[in-house]
Amino acid sequence: MKLVLASGNAGKLEELQAMLAALPLQIVPQHALGVGEVAETGLTFVENALIKARHACQHTGLPALADDSGLIVDALDGAPGLYSARYAGSPTDDAANNAKLLDALRDVPGERRTARFYAVIVLLRHAHDPQPLICEGSWEGRIIDELRGSNGFGYNPVFLDEELGLTAAQMEPAQKNRRSHRAKALQLLVQKLSHLPTR
Ligand code: IMP
Repeated sequence: MKLVLASGNAGKLEELQAMLAALPLQIVPQHALGVGEVAETGLTFVENALIKARHACQHTGLPALADDSGLIVDALDGAPGLYSARYAGSPTDDAANNAKLLDALRDVPGERRTARFYAVIVLLRHAHDPQPLICEGSWEGRIIDELRGSNGFGYNPVFLDEELGLTAAQMEPAQKNRRSHRAKALQLLVQKLSHLPTR
C-alpha cells in the first residue's frame, strides 16, 4: 500500500518513517507530492490529525497517515497542549518554546512538574473515509529545570523519562522510538492494520 505521511515536521517524519520501515508500505512524505501545510483549526488533537490526513488525501488521492501531538504539563493546566508547536509564537521555534516553558515553571518544585507527551495517529483510506483508524499513545515524564541532550526535536531536552533517568534528547532515536507516545500510538495502528480486511 502507498501511504502519504501528512506532516511537514522533519523530526516527526524521521521518527514515523523509522518506525514504519519494517512494514510492506511505500511511505511518501506529503511535501514530496507537492502537498503543503493546512491550518490546524481543530480544538482537539484528534480533530487536527483528521484535518491533516484529509487534506493530504484530498490532494493526492492516496490513503494518508497523520499525527497530532503535544506536551501536557499538569502544573500549567495542560499547556502547552494543543498549541505545543506554537507555544512561543509562529513559526515553530523549539529553543523559544523550551525557554518559555522553563520560565513558566520557574517557581514550580520538582514533584509538581509532572507532564506527558500525547500523540494521536489517524489513518484515512480516502478523503471521505467515514471510519478512520484512530490510535493514541502517551508517555509520562517530568519537566526538568534545564536543557539536557541534543537529539531529536521539540521539548525533548526538558522532558525526563524518570524510569531511565534520561531526557528524550539524551536517548538514541531507536530507544526513544520504543518508549514514546508516537511509538505507542503507531504500534496500536500497526495491530489494527493487520486486522483490516483486504479489498
Ligand atoms: P503538531 O503535532 O505538528 O501540531 O506539533 C506537535 C508539537 O509538540 C511539536 O512541534 C513539538 O513541539 C511537540 N512534540 C510532539 N511530540 C514531541 C516529541 O516527541 N518530542 C518533543 N516535542 C514533541
